[in-house]
Amino acid sequence: MQIGVPAETAAGEKRVATVPDVVEKLVKLGFAVAVQSGAGDAANFADDAYAAAGARIVPTAADLWASSDIVFKVRAPSPQEVALMREGGMLLGFVWPAQNPELMQQLAARKATVLAIDSLPRQLSRAQKMDALTSMAGISGYRAVIEAAHAFGRFFNGQITAAGKVPPAKVFVAGAGVAGLAAIGTAANLGAIVRANDTRAEVADQVVSLGGEFVKVDYEEEGSGGGGYAKVMSEGFMQAQREMYAQQAKDADIIITTALIPGKPAPKLITAAMVQSMKPGSVIVDMAAENGGNCELTEPGQAVVKHGVTIVGYTDLVSRLAKQSSTLYSNNLLRVAEELCKAKDGVVVVNMEDDAIRGLTVIKDGTVTWPAPPLKLP
Ligand code: NAD
Repeated sequence: MQIGVPAETAAGEKRVATVPDVVEKLVKLGFAVAVQSGAGDAANFADDAYAAAGARIVPTAADLWASSDIVFKVRAPSPQEVALMREGGMLLGFVWPAQNPELMQQLAARKATVLAIDSLPRQLSRAQKMDALTSMAGISGYRAVIEAAHAFGRFFNGQITAAGKVPPAKVFVAGAGVAGLAAIGTAANLGAIVRANDTRAEVADQVVSLGGEFVKVDYEEEGSGGGGYAKVMSEGFMQAQREMYAQQAKDADIIITTALIPGKPAPKLITAAMVQSMKPGSVIVDMAAENGGNCELTEPGQAVVKHGVTIVGYTDLVSRLAKQSSTLYSNNLLRVAEELCKAKDGVVVVNMEDDAIRGLTVIKDGTVTWPAPPLKLP
């Protein structure tokens, strides 16, 4: 079977779904691989590197989609891309079925089989190697710190130099899920003093193990909403949390916010008054910008200065590290391909009895199979 890798078409998207090293591994699994000319350019993977790895370079998206049995993508396909898809073809990439009902209908009408990497059952430990949400969140957390360091006018680490003593920067991280933990580790490695808070008490040890200090809200309420995700907190808790965050905002040089609740708008944690209370030259990186933002003054996609504080609301943090994110993403897809082709004969078998594959498969031969039934975990 032929796996096809088109150039991504979404504005500002620099990633590519498969890198040359992974092409080589897909060929070893028995697949033919076709790559649209220029697909890897924005992530610094040239056509020559793909060809050397065993891929056939095809000139246009139309050729690519028409000749491929399976298409590997990053972003959910546009209606134009769905129209190019072969009837009965397969697709592996981000789809977000809950947010894209029309796309689901269009794909079903093409009698497609669609594996949505965002629908992977992340609770399964054997699914971790396929978990692109985790690998992308880790990169975003890292990049958020780099953006903060770029906008901040001082060192992160404390230094004693002949020209004077420099105190370490103080970083506060709101939300310590995958992205928050990556931000904590990166900021601590740069030498900052890092504090963090999350509504899920279970993450406190992980914060400490990465070099941060966990700051608790003075209000008894557990924040776990199941599956490792957060729930909406009571107004009493949110009030107590805002009081604690107001104290942190006055003290911190940098705030990185990552707080999300599945299916809900991002909780507003940093008010305009808190921004106003920060020291001039401070920085906020709001990683929840795309979901409404954790800070009241965030402008999604923009870096703005308000009350002397730079507020970074970029929604393309992973694309800003396109070579790294393409590499990890394509490793995640390779792991899916290995699960789909256990015989290493270049033929895909979608085994709906397998929990991980069942979760990923949101359309099977034109029938919508999303959402998967809940997992029966031991
Ligand atoms: P996410 O992006 O949905 O949320 C980010 C963080 O925001 C979470 O830690 C959440 O608790 C926190 N948050 C929500 N409301 C908040 C508030 N008011 N104040 C402070 N923090 C708030 O989550 P994610 O990073 O994708 O994943 C969260 C967790 O899911 C992981 O940390 C992990 O425990 C779990 N997970 C499990 C597996 C696995 O079991 N293999 C894999 C991936 C993730």
